[in-house]
Amino acid sequence: MPYICTRGGETLTASQAILKGLAGNGGLYVPCSIPRAADDMLPFAPDLPYAQRAARVLSCFLDDFSAEEIGSICADSYGRFDDARIAPVRSPDESTAVLELFHGPTLAFKDMALQMLPRLTVFSAKKCGETRRVCILTATSGDTGKAALEGFEDVPGTRCTVFYPLDGVSRLQEKQMVTSGGNNTQVVAVRGNFDDAQTGVKRLFNDADFVRAMNERGCVLSSANSINIGRLVPQVAYYFSAYADLCAGGMLKKGEMFDACVPTGNFGDILAAYYARRMGVPIARLICASNRNDVLTEFMHTGVYNANRPFHKTISPSMDILISSNLERLLFELCGRDAKRVSAMMQSLKETGAFRLNADELAALQKDFAGVSADDNETRDEIALVWREKHYLLDPHTAVAMRALRKARAEEQAVRKTLVVSTASPFKFAQDVGEAVGLSRTEDALRDAETLSAFTGLPLPGPLARLRTAAVRHRAVCEPEQMGREVLNGLPE
Ligand SMILES: *Cc1c(COP(=O)(O)O)cnc(C)c1O
Repeated sequence: MPYICTRGGETLTASQAILKGLAGNGGLYVPCSIPRAADDMLPFAPDLPYAQRAARVLSCFLDDFSAEEIGSICADSYGRFDDARIAPVRSPDESTAVLELFHGPTLAFKDMALQMLPRLTVFSAKKCGETRRVCILTATSGDTGKAALEGFEDVPGTRCTVFYPLDGVSRLQEKQMVTSGGNNTQVVAVRGNFDDAQTGVKRLFNDADFVRAMNERGCVLSSANSINIGRLVPQVAYYFSAYADLCAGGMLKKGEMFDACVPTGNFGDILAAYYARRMGVPIARLICASNRNDVLTEFMHTGVYNANRPFHKTISPSMDILISSNLERLLFELCGRDAKRVSAMMQSLKETGAFRLNADELAALQKDFAGVSADDNETRDEIALVWREKHYLLDPHTAVAMRALRKARAEEQAVRKTLVVSTASPFKFAQDVGEAVGLSRTEDALRDAETLSAFTGLPLPGPLARLRTAAVRHRAVCEPEQMGREVLNGLPE
């Protein structure tokens, strides 16, 4: 399966696309056509383990990897999850299922892809004859950073630098990152918001002087952000897996259509659902759930994407995003894979902060997607309601999706059984979750997590419990303009 760029230009192999991350012209790599799944994948056999389900899905996308390579990558990628099913599905009621994607080492869904990406990167480098050290640069709104650091920690031939917005992530998220181990990791706080950090990383990839300086130090750049196709492909797998589990559990009949409701920020998770749908998973509508940063909600209603709006900090910080990078891959599909048209929209976004779909593109968008948002009060209310009624504890991101679904059902936008994607452990955001269920907040986020555990009777996840004694190893802070210098200064002699 060759890969092409959403803004035109060269065709690459899968391994080249994984290694490059982002195209030189700023576009994103996509498979030259979205593959169809084989009949025996729809659904997978109930007893097929998750790693083997993932291997089958990966094989559809990565045809310059052998079956043995994919098998070994998948077998190694899920060893650090605290649930043998990896991505278990729970059903709070007959019409709603929750896909739990937070059983990895950082308690958020980014692990689903980032435990695998380093392994894909190492194999890709070998295939491309790359002997330089692969340096991952990534911007994070909280969860990606820690997941990338965990995934790449001490992986030979790699280095991982994470930039996060100072004061733009939760205290626990920050603590998780700055206590990271490994001799090949670097964590830097940027004075700005997530978009400043992400734009800074994109700029470094296109900065010829910086790229040359890195090359002279024996380094080649790569990305772990959700723009990397190596992030997206492992995410497609869990929609196949969920469909298999819903059929096995009797909630769905084989072939029965269902909706998927996904808490969305950079549009990676929901784009994976869209790919799964195109491959044959019977997803009818995709409900794109946003918090008060509702740029995508407006886009889905009007076809106008307008990032000229205030940036709100919310209790679901991983969705506090105004420029949703992976949307570009959906635009590519909506306009009939017209790279010139995508380039024009992205140029308009860059120059004016906005772009507009034409009537055909908007119709194509609205056929598959609905956009719904929920603010912080609604999110807290949803956490309290679901805890009270179902004794199921939601994190704020998942609660945004649950409330979005509730609203969509009230407006008859969602009429089928629905899979809600749960993206984080509630303990990772214990202070806001605790407040929502009536506990009071202290200065000590970890203690609040322990209190929440005692109150709910749910165990405190190990990665949080261990933070209590972890030492801070990373203290750098910089301006957005200094990010390149930080990377160069951080390299070993
Ligand atoms: C990253 C993240 C999201 C948003 O996912 P995207 O793929 O960026 O849309 C939602 N919830 C949590 C907890 C996350 O970490």
